[in-house]
Amino acid sequence: MSGAAPYERSTQGSAQLAAGDAVRLARDAFAQMAVTEEVLHGEADRNVLVETDDARRYVLKVARAGASRAELDFEVRLLEHLAGKELPFGVPRALPTVTGEYVAATSFGGREHLARLLTWVPGTLLSSLPWHRPELLREVGATAARLTEALSDFDDPAAARTHHWDMRRAPEAVRECVGFVDDAARRGAIDRIVGWFDEYVTPKLDGLPTGIVHQDLNDFNVLVTHAPDGTAHVSGVIDPSDALHTVQVAELAIAVAYAMLRKPDPLAAACEVVRGFDDVRPLSDDELAVVFPLAAVRLCANATTWSRRQAEDGANEYGRARMRHTFPVIEHLALIEPRVAEARLRHACGRVAVGAASRVAAWLATANTAPLLGDAPVSYVDLSPASERWDGPDEPAALGSAGAVYAGYDEARFGDAAPRGEGAVEPATISLGVDVFCPAGTTIHAPFAGMVETRDGDGLVLRHATGDGVTFWTHVRGLAPSAVAALAAGDTLGTATAALHVQVLCLPTAVPRRVRASEREFWRGVALDPTQLLGVAPHASTALRVDDVLRVREQRIARSQRSYYQRPPNLVRGRGAWFTDEDGLQYLDAVNNVTHVGHCHPHVVAAGVRQMRRLNTNSRFVYEALATYADRLAARLPDPLNVLFFVCTGSEANDLALRMARTTTQREDVYVLDAAYHGNTIAVTGISPNRYDGPGGTGAPATTHAFAQPDRYRGAYGYDDARAGEHYAADAVAVVDRLVAANRPPAAFFAESLMGTAGQVVLPDGYLAAVFAAVRAAGGLCVSDEVQVGFGRLGTNFWGFEDHGVVPDIVTMGKPMGNGHPIAAVATTREIADAFDNGMRYFNTFAGNPVSCAIAHAVLDVLDDEDLQHNAEVVGSHFVARLTALQDRHELVGDVRGKGLYAGVELVTSRATKEPATRQAYLISERMMRLGVITYPNARFDNVLKFKPPMMFTLDDADRVVDTLDRVLTEGW
Ligand code: PMP
Repeated sequence: MSGAAPYERSTQGSAQLAAGDAVRLARDAFAQMAVTEEVLHGEADRNVLVETDDARRYVLKVARAGASRAELDFEVRLLEHLAGKELPFGVPRALPTVTGEYVAATSFGGREHLARLLTWVPGTLLSSLPWHRPELLREVGATAARLTEALSDFDDPAAARTHHWDMRRAPEAVRECVGFVDDAARRGAIDRIVGWFDEYVTPKLDGLPTGIVHQDLNDFNVLVTHAPDGTAHVSGVIDPSDALHTVQVAELAIAVAYAMLRKPDPLAAACEVVRGFDDVRPLSDDELAVVFPLAAVRLCANATTWSRRQAEDGANEYGRARMRHTFPVIEHLALIEPRVAEARLRHACGRVAVGAASRVAAWLATANTAPLLGDAPVSYVDLSPASERWDGPDEPAALGSAGAVYAGYDEARFGDAAPRGEGAVEPATISLGVDVFCPAGTTIHAPFAGMVETRDGDGLVLRHATGDGVTFWTHVRGLAPSAVAALAAGDTLGTATAALHVQVLCLPTAVPRRVRASEREFWRGVALDPTQLLGVAPHASTALRVDDVLRVREQRIARSQRSYYQRPPNLVRGRGAWFTDEDGLQYLDAVNNVTHVGHCHPHVVAAGVRQMRRLNTNSRFVYEALATYADRLAARLPDPLNVLFFVCTGSEANDLALRMARTTTQREDVYVLDAAYHGNTIAVTGISPNRYDGPGGTGAPATTHAFAQPDRYRGAYGYDDARAGEHYAADAVAVVDRLVAANRPPAAFFAESLMGTAGQVVLPDGYLAAVFAAVRAAGGLCVSDEVQVGFGRLGTNFWGFEDHGVVPDIVTMGKPMGNGHPIAAVATTREIADAFDNGMRYFNTFAGNPVSCAIAHAVLDVLDDEDLQHNAEVVGSHFVARLTALQDRHELVGDVRGKGLYAGVELVTSRATKEPATRQAYLISERMMRLGVITYPNARFDNVLKFKPPMMFTLDDADRVVDTLDRVLTEGW
């Protein structure tokens, strides 16, 4: 290390370039035929993008006055060294001048400046992204590691230097400038962090691996580009002007420092960067121990330097932005215990978080414990979201009213369940301690001998040592503590004031009562299972966790039955429009039109339970509910549709409708709409273009004929065509005529009145009526598949076909009928039903059984009592209008369509070509799930986000969905 390390004034010495100077300099000094120039960001250097007439791009870098040729030459050599490495990201290279050097001397505004011309590295600044995916942060870490490795065999005498930003002297830099920070709280936070340097970094500094490092991987020096799927990736690293020979971990610490800016949970971001580094270039224990304090001190150096520059010179916009983003993080970090941060980073890198934990656990396993509640018995109570405690219609009995109970360690508490969010807004639902419910005033005993370390109105922390001298702590909350400082096992600790919360800790840090599920693994290494302090063995749960469920599914469930999501939640409960998973994270369900009146609606559940207790049998026996439900359903259908068949699924309903049409017309051919889905049996797969033309399909059977999908977004007639319905119908009628002429007259025409799986396609006005007329004229039956959209979903009418002013010959229905219970139906006319009755019997074991009918009755009750069809109209129109407005702000949104509570958002990578944004649709729905909203892609190209929530969806629910989609489209995925 050589010489002093001068503090640099910010704007002093910057070259004053005039328009055209950069172009001229590139031509004169570097012989590059530049024609255009554009000023770029630069802290002290003037950086200008110049482009040649043959579209080559360079950055002309004019150094501040006073920069030495030696230091610029060093940078050139460093870049040249990196250019010789195969790095998965770009770095600039210097171009020679006409005289064969790499640095050209020139003068601006009467002052000498040195200029270089560097190759252009494509990308935008990491700082310009509104959100950084965890995977991107890992890439930033990996980039720091690759640079460290690439520079490890670079040796250069000019690297033996120091300057203001040298990490080894960061405390000095801070002290030189901290006086310019006005705010006392901020200065306090900075002092605390600088103190960490002396305590945690200085003792280790000399033993850490060294090398030449770039030393400035801040978010203005890391470039990113977007992959075709819209995800951002590191594409380049620029500006090695702070490079020097120092500890290699400085490279990582600086990248970590800036990655923590603008993050609601900076430490979580740090974990990703460090993990990314460690994956490429493993970190030593000592390096892992210094990363956090180094990164925090770096931010202090940044904020204090800019405070000084502002005071002395008036900061530029860059400096102001730096301070705006840096101070809040500094204040946040100052509250973190560095040993906890170290443990977090170690855990992120797959190391044991706290080395002593296993020794404490081993000691506890054989220790004599004085139970906290003395001899009083205490039993386990399950307060997790999956507990049957929450199943009944009534409030559960008060906890502890019939003897002391405890809720387990490392379990979610349903009482803390809340909407899922990412990072800092992920709700804390997991208890890393036991909750003990006993009468207030109960005497609580010390489990082991110990010294009271802290005591407050809510309880105390007791310090203990294992037999071999490892310190650990018990933290008991909900206690009026005794005044004694030193306690023997069994001594009175205090008296219970409320529910107790008990933790055993391996670090002297407060672990919150509840932690986030995503961090529980880490906290388990800090807060050990305290159940034995109650004198009982830990409760052994038999419930499978999500990874186990997925593993068993993988083994036992055929792969063609895929689950939603790459990292699906393990759902344990549903109510209204909300799911709750095993960890108490809740998801607003915007896709389940099956749970029509809301998940687990109490009226529907009660009806099913009641009937299951009384009678369940098949419909060859006679009972009331089948008759009354058939009567009630028929009353909802227009004449002459008043005869019903009950079945169990929509597929069966369509299968039966198909059989009926073929039997009664004595024809085989069926007309459908392209991209439609009508079910999963062999027969109906054969009338589902979505399947026979989709992956694994073998094309249309000879008897199936598809009309072009009347899709005004992708089809021949667009939204701008007021007569689109007529035109699509005319095309379909022409097909009918051709088929009839070819001796392929229809047995039936199957259509949904709003296409579901095909992508929420709203049929244009006039279409269905005209096609029905042509099909009927050709002797075919018209089948309306209302499996998706029936039962009031579209708001305007109870059935979708009513919106089109038609009455079909056969109506099939399913999904919403039983709110998730399998009941479906076919409705037709007496005439068709009788014609179908050719002697062959129809029997369906489960269809229309008393339980199914009781449930279906209850669904109609709720639809009426809660006026849900009207709700679908009111909330649906608001929802679709708000979704539509997203189109104005987000290029990716190609089309929005829908009616009532049934909507689709079609995503395209280009509005001009309508190229489906399939991958984006999956990634967006995955992130929306992590933000607590369930939607998923469907349609021919899986690029349409589907929205068909339970019918009691509120305006707030609709807003939450739209706001979340808006956020993901804005921030990225
Ligand atoms: N018809 C339509 C329009 C559907 O969307 C579906 C299911 N997605 C079916 C029929 C088949 O219903 P199920 O899955 O109950 O057999």
